[in-house]
Amino acid sequence: MKKVISSILFALFFVSTFQAQQQNAKKQTNKDNTIQTQPKLIVGIVVDQMRYDYLTRFYDKYGDGGFKRMMNEGFNCQNNHFNYVPTYTAPGHTSVYTGTTPKYHGIIGNDWYDKEIKKSVYCAGDDSVQSVGTTDNAGKMSPHRMKTTTFADENRLFTQMRGKTIGIALKDRGAILPAGHTANAAYWFHGKDEGRWITSTFYMNELPKWVQDFNSSNQANSYFKEWNTLYDIATYIESAADQNDFEGGFKGKETVTFPYDLAALKDKNGGFELLKATPYGNSLTTDFALAAIDGEALGKDNITDVLTVSYSSPDYVGHNFGVSSKEVQDTYLRLDKDLERLFKGLDAKVGKGNYTVFLTADHAAVEVPSYLSSLKIPAGYFDGKAFREQLNAFLKATYKADDLIENFSNNQIFLNRAKISEMGLKLHDVQQAIVNEIIAYKHIDKAYTGMSMTQASFSTGIEELVQNGYNQKRSGDVIYVYDPSVLSYSLTGSSHGTSFNYDTHVPLLLFGKGIKQGKTLKKTSITDIAPTMSAILGISFPNGATGQPLDFVLE
Ligand code: ZN
Ligand code: ZN
Ligand code: ZN
Repeated sequence: MKKVISSILFALFFVSTFQAQQQNAKKQTNKDNTIQTQPKLIVGIVVDQMRYDYLTRFYDKYGDGGFKRMMNEGFNCQNNHFNYVPTYTAPGHTSVYTGTTPKYHGIIGNDWYDKEIKKSVYCAGDDSVQSVGTTDNAGKMSPHRMKTTTFADENRLFTQMRGKTIGIALKDRGAILPAGHTANAAYWFHGKDEGRWITSTFYMNELPKWVQDFNSSNQANSYFKEWNTLYDIATYIESAADQNDFEGGFKGKETVTFPYDLAALKDKNGGFELLKATPYGNSLTTDFALAAIDGEALGKDNITDVLTVSYSSPDYVGHNFGVSSKEVQDTYLRLDKDLERLFKGLDAKVGKGNYTVFLTADHAAVEVPSYLSSLKIPAGYFDGKAFREQLNAFLKATYKADDLIENFSNNQIFLNRAKISEMGLKLHDVQQAIVNEIIAYKHIDKAYTGMSMTQASFSTGIEELVQNGYNQKRSGDVIYVYDPSVLSYSLTGSSHGTSFNYDTHVPLLLFGKGIKQGKTLKKTSITDIAPTMSAILGISFPNGATGQPLDFVLE
């Protein structure tokens, strides 16, 4: 026994000496080429569905260590917008990290119709890889459909793959797309009856020990407790009545009011899936991010690492309860506490002044349209079924054919091009006929042919945003735009996807190494973030980047 212990001790001694030597070797190299002036760690934070005005609406109730720390110590770009449509999660995350839009990175939606295989595909779905950490198919994911590099990829190339990249989010796409093609790992949360952080064979064949340890701890399970408001609900004057007509709610509870007994609601709401739809999903993400910093030794040497963290839960809460709900307010007050905990962890583990953080969102969200209607603001709901029936009837009457359309998705119409050419029709004529027809339909505000998106260059207005979201290879034949504050959605809860300010205006806060203190109302774009990170690191821009570095935020 003694012999076993002493040989283990010897092995440990050997490993730690070896590591120390490696670190010294790295430091030595760094001295020679001044890499030490760069941050040891970049942390990119994307809050799913965060509107810019959540910073200002809840400002008085935030503590000093979370959002306000970023606003006070760092730089606040107060007029930061998405510069394309559709404003959905997968294109949002991809555009933040690649510095370009769907026109170039190719992630045109969360799901889209693949014209070649004539099937709908999921942005991160990949049947060529296997799940790691679960037997469920939830791990069969990779970034293979993303055509361009992220700034994390460029950091890997620049550092000869020595700088690490780790991506974390409850949603697979929120973890995978930001981390890029060369990530050491992306981890996402498999809910259902498992409640585990998983990955795919795209990254590794087995979960590292720190992830296995995290999964076997009781951490996820410990959040099945009461969700009540963080502070006295009577003080939540920044949101609507707790019980109102514009909220969805959970199965198994009549009212949409605090408190929510999550243990009692668990079974009727998808098991661990329920946690995603509460602020505890953000806490669990923070717990896992802090474990990753330790487990992967992020920011420990002078070669810059990149950690991407996406907070997916605010999107689920917003979809369920709506922009003005008490539930959304409480989610942000609690997220503020989680951010404070993350920043304190970074101070302790990486050191104040050694890391750089940015925080933004993947899109914002509209006030519940039925709520806006009740206030006489033009808003409404799009009836997709009626739209398709009306259009199909027109095509049948005009062309005597009922199979000219292959697919409707993401406000685009995909035509049956083989049929069109077989009938001797011109593709552009059919596109234009549909545009002329549907512009008269209810809640259609604008419509464009795919052809027009490739034959002119738009530099202003909605046409520019549609064009930035239009990928010639992957997008459809006709693009249509709803009236303001119109959704294809349930009568309760908020959603997103348009080019209007309520969907495009999101926070951009930066702080830490290399970032000035200040704020601006000058318009910035989501695509400027990645080039700004590249500029801080002195590395190549992501290969398709179209944004500009924000030189006024840099020290
Ligand atoms: Zn989202
Ligand atoms: Zn409520
Ligand atoms: Zn959403």
